[in-house]
Amino acid sequence: MGVEFYTSKLADAVNWGRKYSLFQYPFVTACCGMEFMATAASKYDMARFGAEFPRFSPRQADLLIVVGTITERQGPVLKRVYDQMCEPKWVVAFGVCASTGGFYQNYSAMPGCDQVIPVDVYIPGCPPRPEQVLDGLMLLMDRIQRGEGHNQIRGKLRHEAEVAKKALPARAAGHLPVVK
Ligand code: SF4
Repeated sequence: MGVEFYTSKLADAVNWGRKYSLFQYPFVTACCGMEFMATAASKYDMARFGAEFPRFSPRQADLLIVVGTITERQGPVLKRVYDQMCEPKWVVAFGVCASTGGFYQNYSAMPGCDQVIPVDVYIPGCPPRPEQVLDGLMLLMDRIQRGEGHNQIRGKLRHEAEVAKKALPARAAGHLPVVK
């Protein structure tokens, strides 16, 4: 068993902790908000999945749930909220309006929030039923466990690039073999 074995097991444990302690930031703009409240309430009880605690400050949240229609004018605001969230972070598009713009085929509605931020899970429906929302949440949890969230992958790539950059002077000095 090498170092890789222990680091991969550590990553599994960290991701296990992450998926059961999501702090959500609900970006609610329209009627899907009612269904979001129903999912959070006692009957469907999102708390069972460790994601019950909405934080209305992006700096204290790691799960952005985009609930409802996003207009072109709201796009920069949504992007700023996403940029202010701590990493690693995840995004769920709640309902067809957040996923694709829904039936609002006009100049002012954005055809999906993925025009400005990366989305990890899309939940269909107008509005989606709470069961669909919980299904989407479980899909996201699987993705977090595998380390396949958009932001997780970007973090990994950034780390690898930094390691490669640090190794450059050592290679130039002949301490490391140069890969051709
Ligand atoms: S998907 Fe349907 S319920 Fe949700 S915001 Fe759009 S129109 Fe409203």
